[in-house]
Amino acid sequence: CGIVGVLGNHEAAPILVEALKRLEYRGYDSAGIATVNAGTLDRRRAVGKLVNLGDLLVHEPLAGKSGIGHTRWATHGEPNVVNAHPHKAGPVAVVHNGIIENFRELRTELAGYGLTPATDTDTETVAMLAQHFMAEGLSPQEAAIKTLGKLHGAFALAFLFEGENDLMIAARRGSPLAIGYGDGEMFVGSDAIALSPITDRISYLEEGDYAILSRAGAAVFNAAGTPVSREIRKIQISA
Ligand code: GLU
Repeated sequence: CGIVGVLGNHEAAPILVEALKRLEYRGYDSAGIATVNAGTLDRRRAVGKLVNLGDLLVHEPLAGKSGIGHTRWATHGEPNVVNAHPHKAGPVAVVHNGIIENFRELRTELAGYGLTPATDTDTETVAMLAQHFMAEGLSPQEAAIKTLGKLHGAFALAFLFEGENDLMIAARRGSPLAIGYGDGEMFVGSDAIALSPITDRISYLEEGDYAILSRAGAAVFNAAGTPVSREIRKIQISA
């Protein structure tokens, strides 16, 4: 139900949890974060309130300055830890708002590649598709873009990749997604409120857009894959 992402210069976990707190108003049943730390992709997830995720992180900290986070409002698969986001398949982690309408067809296709889901969610198929395309030799960027082309439904997505400390891919179709510009840091969030303590320089992806982010900035493309520029606005949100 809420998405956040950071390519930062500080530990990502506390920033992600703080940003997720600002999305709590949307409601959720579970939450999680994933980071890339010295190339290693790992995640922590917990059912219930963010305080549970916070407690888990005290006992099992997650280091790394690149990360994605999610508060889930389950649509496919009951609210439990296995179904909580981020979902991970091989070198790919994904957070997702919305619904992948054709996930059953995609599962059948993935079964043909020998890939079996580990969760009941529609979201996991997104990570599995990207995993499959990377196994075929595509770069993370190419794999994510090819994956987006196969999805039906309304969604906002953020991808993170094993071995890639300076790469995040975000996409918007039907669910809003904001990109936040920092000083040598970049962020994504479901809305500007999530990012308001971190940056006030925001651009919104338009319908069908996807963005390839590094700490240096964001390259934004429309649904046809044409580079586009989306206005960066200075927004004001009172705490
Ligand atoms: N459809 C996804 C799920 O059930 C995402 C739900 C959401 O937007 O939080 O896991």
